[in-house]
Amino acid sequence: MASDGELLDREITIVMQQEGGTENDLPGQWARIRSRLHREVGEIEYRTWLRQMSLVGIDGDEVTVHLPTRFLRDWVREHYGSRLNAMWQQETPTVRRVDIRVGGTIRPASEMPAESTPAAQPAMPADERADSRSEIAGALDTRFTFGNFVVGKPNEFAHACARRVAERPGSLGFNPLFLYGGVGLGKTHLMHAIAWELSGCNDSTRPVSVAYMSAEKFMYRFIGAIRSQQTMQFKEQLRGVDVLMIDDLQFLIGKDNTQEEFFHTFNAVVDAGRQIVVSADKSPSDLSGIEDRLRTRLGCGMVADLHATTFELRVSILEAKAVMAGVAVPPKVIEFLSHKITTNVRELEGALNRLIAHANLFGRPVTLDTTQEVLHDLLKAHDRRVTIDEIQRKVCEHYNIRATDMSSARRARNVARPRQVAMYLAKQLTSRSLPEIGRKFGNRDHTTVIHAVARIGELMERDTAFAEDVELLRRMLEA
Ligand code: ADP
Ligand code: MG
Repeated sequence: MASDGELLDREITIVMQQEGGTENDLPGQWARIRSRLHREVGEIEYRTWLRQMSLVGIDGDEVTVHLPTRFLRDWVREHYGSRLNAMWQQETPTVRRVDIRVGGTIRPASEMPAESTPAAQPAMPADERADSRSEIAGALDTRFTFGNFVVGKPNEFAHACARRVAERPGSLGFNPLFLYGGVGLGKTHLMHAIAWELSGCNDSTRPVSVAYMSAEKFMYRFIGAIRSQQTMQFKEQLRGVDVLMIDDLQFLIGKDNTQEEFFHTFNAVVDAGRQIVVSADKSPSDLSGIEDRLRTRLGCGMVADLHATTFELRVSILEAKAVMAGVAVPPKVIEFLSHKITTNVRELEGALNRLIAHANLFGRPVTLDTTQEVLHDLLKAHDRRVTIDEIQRKVCEHYNIRATDMSSARRARNVARPRQVAMYLAKQLTSRSLPEIGRKFGNRDHTTVIHAVARIGELMERDTAFAEDVELLRRMLEA
């Protein structure tokens, strides 16, 4: 069975053969060694540690093999180094040494933002991308560095904490570092930045082993280790690193066994004075479904949140990204986008990437007109985002009641019914949660909102005139 890795290697070695024109069959030897190793260590271990090895070449009595990260290199050196030596010597008796080094490509994260244009991504074959998912040290996105992170009020604290951890991992008060915030606000970016800084890619004088993975990957690795009866290796491997980073911890909610394992790993790493960095979409205290003892430990280092972006931060980010892409984007366009796309940085970036790709493709400058044209669908989707305030205003106008009645305690039918309609529309037209909606209506409980939504739904089914009325309001709000 030829794995992706083997196919890739074949490509690499073919190139070498043309260049070197060696008599002995280097590609064949390397393929044999790989498949022998594969058989010896088994599928999981091979995939985890050895699949990303690439043969650089043979120079006299020395063979050079590359691995993409320090972490992998150290592991392979320590655990498979002598075996590789012996295997090479069997193939080519003149070989004295196998040099295992860091090199080749560092693979970008498998979770590329869907919106980024192909032009903005490094070219990479699909099978190689799939391959990167199986790498334990995690795949780091080359764009997610401190240098590329724009600092503003909403993220300055989280950024400072991340910097601090990258400078002095394991220092008191910063361990664990818990980063939290909504989608697309830079949690993963900051974690990768820490990893880049520490893994020596920016500063080769400081060899520190770093393992980064999503909580999901942690779970799959753990399950895989149980299946192949290699939990000891799994534990050792994670507990041996200097910095362990787990992204999107909320994934472990309700996954009791994995949480338990993570808890023990966490304790072992922290107790050994090593650094843990965790991200989640909520603060430790709001992460319901996480065991109390884990929650407590998560919160006892430094907790830093990434707030929703401000207009100023969005402008700065767009400016920085435009400069990086080397495309002139007029201030008017930047302001326009910063006003229109307020959800998260990922969407903002996606919009800019589309503009840039379009400009490059057609060789036309970016203007406000082309922006509106190119981003037509995106802007329309954002325009349709109605606020609860607008809904309340429209409903009050329509039923001819006062704005204060939306939050008042009055229960008279002529006020209570429109209020329920407004709650119903808020649920339908916005992405607000039930408690958030309740708060907007005079701090009502979320159960009141549930009741209102159900009640209006019922009434609409029974009373077509009423249903038309509500539909009319909806269309006016969506227009
Ligand atoms: P999260 O993990 O919080 O969902 P990410 O870290 O994946 O978000 O960020 C989403 C995208 O936005 C990434 O492409 C990231 O580079 C970019 N981004 C977020 N915040 C910033 C920032 N302050 N400066 C530059 N880019 C940012
Ligand atoms: Mg993320």
